[in-house]
Amino acid sequence: MNLARQIEQYLPQPLLELVKNISGQAAKQGQRVYLVGGIVRDLLLGDPSLRSGPRFDLDLVVEGDAVKLAQQVAETGQAKLLAHHRFGTAKLRYENFTLDLATARKETYVRPGALPAVTPGTLKDDLIRRDFSINAMAISLASNDYGELVDPYQGKSDLEHRLIRILHPGSFTDDATRILRGVCYEQRFGFEFEAQTARLLKRDIPMLDTISGDRIRHELEHIFEEDRPELVIKRLSELGALHRINPSLKGDGWIAEKFDKARRLKKPSQLPSLYFCLLVYSLSEKEIEQFLARLNIPAKLSLAMSDTLRLKTSLPFLNKSSLKPSEIYYLLREYEPLAIQANAIAAESPTARRHLQLFLTKLRYVRTSLDGEELKKLGIPPGPKMGKVLQELHKAKLDGEVRTRADEKKLALSLSLKS
Ligand code: ATP
Ligand code: MG
Repeated sequence: MNLARQIEQYLPQPLLELVKNISGQAAKQGQRVYLVGGIVRDLLLGDPSLRSGPRFDLDLVVEGDAVKLAQQVAETGQAKLLAHHRFGTAKLRYENFTLDLATARKETYVRPGALPAVTPGTLKDDLIRRDFSINAMAISLASNDYGELVDPYQGKSDLEHRLIRILHPGSFTDDATRILRGVCYEQRFGFEFEAQTARLLKRDIPMLDTISGDRIRHELEHIFEEDRPELVIKRLSELGALHRINPSLKGDGWIAEKFDKARRLKKPSQLPSLYFCLLVYSLSEKEIEQFLARLNIPAKLSLAMSDTLRLKTSLPFLNKSSLKPSEIYYLLREYEPLAIQANAIAAESPTARRHLQLFLTKLRYVRTSLDGEELKKLGIPPGPKMGKVLQELHKAKLDGEVRTRADEKKLALSLSLKS
């Protein structure tokens, strides 16, 4: 099968030119370059929307030396070399596209979950080490057979039958992140696991224990970039995989409802962190500690997630409808905005939710017109007293008791006369 027409129609023009140049350059040295992985799958599915926008990334396999090739391409100024590694991989950037180049390689797993030993190999070796048949196809970019599909493991047939199939029975034991990846594709495309794959997936759920926190977290981040990650979380929960990552995690209807609400409130770039906070919302303090450690969550997100629970326990204070805006402000100002956002979505009480939303959209931005310098001009000396006056001004502004500069001056003077 030849996919030249789909490539031409589907890849953005500048990216297409770059890819052709890379292949041309490789050919001069007798090397061959192929498109591989998700892009091939998506080209066959024929849905350009799957890979549009800034997420457009391409994987290329080089039968030859990918690092050297990437360096040569960068030297001609066609793209920027972002990184290269010992294992024969390199990353190029061009406009908002990234290209991952990899030397075709053979992998052997010494121990479940560990990184494999790598040696140079053929394209076929490189394809068999992949997760699923639908991700184990390539398209030649060489001029003599440009666009030709390379499909040694029946990926196209599986795609047509809407099946997710591993390439050998030890696949999930070698690398149990494939369990998470498989469920992600199952839900994204509405596919089914082929019977043996389904059986082995269930059998190998305990192998998730062999995967490092960083790799599990990375796959969850991948899932959180899906249009509807709650479907993946729910399915992982049914399969017992979510429970294996942390026994207290749930993927029920509550999560689905809150994730959906999150999407209506937040920009896509902020969603993954918010999903993390919502995912742990029903955990106890001790359980969240375990989760943070297991996934090696980075400091900033870790703070937001712990704050989410800390604020949850303070929600009863926000539940009173008689609260003044300044009271809401001082209750919330020390919490991470993301934690406030998570609670604004997840809190049960509508009053508390309204107060949290008020803080996020308005109160946190309120500033007095007068600053310390101006108070000095009014004859108020710097020090604790000025601090107190500024705080009272801020409260009055939050509560709508002062509006104009003149109001603030008047209040500042009367406050400075007191005590
Ligand atoms: P997506 O649309 O989900 O991004 P993708 O195919 O681009 O799909 P990546 O995570 O970018 O997914 O991985 C690129 C390719 O690398 C996959 O198509 C697959 O062939 C291979 N791959 C990724 N992770 C694994 C893994 N854990 N085991 C084996 N192969 C993998
Ligand atoms: Mg990808």
